[in-house]
This record gives sequence, C-alpha cells and structure tokens, in this order.
Amino acid sequence: MSSPSTPDISRLSVLACFAHPDDEGFASGGLLAKLAAGGARVTLVCATNGDVGEISDPALATPENLWQVRQQELQNAMAVTGISDIRFLDYRDSGMDGTDDNRHPNAYCNAAAAAVVNHLAGIIRETNPHVVLTHDPTGGYGHPDHITMSAHATAAVARAADPDGATPLLYYVCFPRNVFRRWWQEMADRDITPPFAAEAIDELGTPDDDVTTTVDVLPWVDVKLESLACHRTQLHDSGPFGQLPPDVVNMLMGTEFYQLAAPPGAVDLLAAL
Ligand SMILES: [Zn+2]
Repeated sequence: MSSPSTPDISRLSVLACFAHPDDEGFASGGLLAKLAAGGARVTLVCATNGDVGEISDPALATPENLWQVRQQELQNAMAVTGISDIRFLDYRDSGMDGTDDNRHPNAYCNAAAAAVVNHLAGIIRETNPHVVLTHDPTGGYGHPDHITMSAHATAAVARAADPDGATPLLYYVCFPRNVFRRWWQEMADRDITPPFAAEAIDELGTPDDDVTTTVDVLPWVDVKLESLACHRTQLHDSGPFGQLPPDVVNMLMGTEFYQLAAPPGAVDLLAAL
C-alpha cells in the first residue's frame, strides 16, 4: 500500500551513472536491489570497462581482456540485482590519479565533456528518471573517473531539464567520513591491516555534514553482497574486507548514504522509500 508520503516504487524510473563496473555495488547496491525488486525501471550507465583495475586471480583475466571480463562481471552482477538495462560508454579507465593511464587518449578523464554530457542528457530524456544517482564531486577517494562522471552527470541533469519543471532529483552517493572511520576501527580491532592509512582517515570520504539521506538496505544486503561478489576480478578473499566477520560486513553494508544535490528545496524521495 502506498500513501502520498510513500512513493510507489513500481512507478519510479531511476538512472544510475557510475565510472567503473563495481562502483554501483559499493555505492548503492542495496538501494538498486530494493528499487529493482519493487518494480522500478532502473538504467545503469557505466562510463568505462575498468580496463586498468587490479586482477585478483590471473586465472580470471589478463590485462588485455580485463575490459571484456569486467563488462561480463557487471552483467552478472546486475542479473543478481535485477537490472537488465546497462549502457556502456566504452571509455578507457583513467587509472588512479597520477598514473600514466591518465594520459591515454581514450581515457574517460580526457573525453570531450560536451559529447558525454549530450549523450547522458539523451539517456535522461529517453528514460525520464525521477532520480539520478552518481558519484559525489570528490569521487569518494579521488578517482579521476569518479570525479569526471560526477561532473558530467550533474551537467547532464541540468542540460536535460524539462522546461515544464519535471526535473529529476540528483543524488550523490556518499561514503561518509565517520563510516570510513568505523570500517577502519573494525579492522584495527581485529588486527586486520586496513587498506587506508590512519593518517588519511580524516580526509577520506564525504564530510559527514554533506549527507542528507540515509537509506536502510539491511533487507537487501544479501542481494547487494551476492551482486558485488560477481565482480570476481576485483575481490580478494584474503584482503582486509574479506577478513571481517559477516555480521560486521552486513552491519556496515546495510546502510547507504546519499546527498540530495539538486534541485534546491526538492522533497527527498529516497528518504521516503
Ligand atoms: Zn570506480
């Protein structure tokens, strides 16, 4: 049953714009699972194929075919989540800031912004989303592709704005600083070496005050984790995340955080789901 204050998920259209295969899962996998299960129309845009990501096991991929393997991993992950509309923009992964991959001519961070924004605006006009999700302007941990996608998606929402006022709500996915700190502490408490240095802990992630919206996705955390597990080339069972007990992972993954970025004064639809 829906009341005026509870949106009918089955009537929603949602566009999620991320840089790499697996970004969607860490950032918003629980929300995407909830939306898909509720019958929302969800379209996922993935700017790159994660070409220069790590390969957890050389049996899974080579540097040459990693892009194909990661496209398939994303398709597998979205099959678990219940999303079939995936649009690959086919730019090359720009790599971490300061690496040679930043200068590759097809690197996403070097793409002509007007072309990408026009493409995304076209997808917005086609899918007519109520909600657009993308990276926050800091890129979470500063990845050039995350920052680029945040800027492009933000510009595309403005570009596609309907003169009648039917503008989608733009949400940035957030990794709040206090949550980074909790991950760090849970690892430190168990003598697990965290993947980020203690000195960096106060600079990683979204400033807590920027978070407008907290979404409980605990009922969807199993789907979220199963979907994430499809990104096999990116997972290390022996890594710091893999060593945390399942109840701690569920607790930390069972809440997602967003910033309602535009339009000003909009009613927070995600908070009401
Ligand atoms: Zn990414």
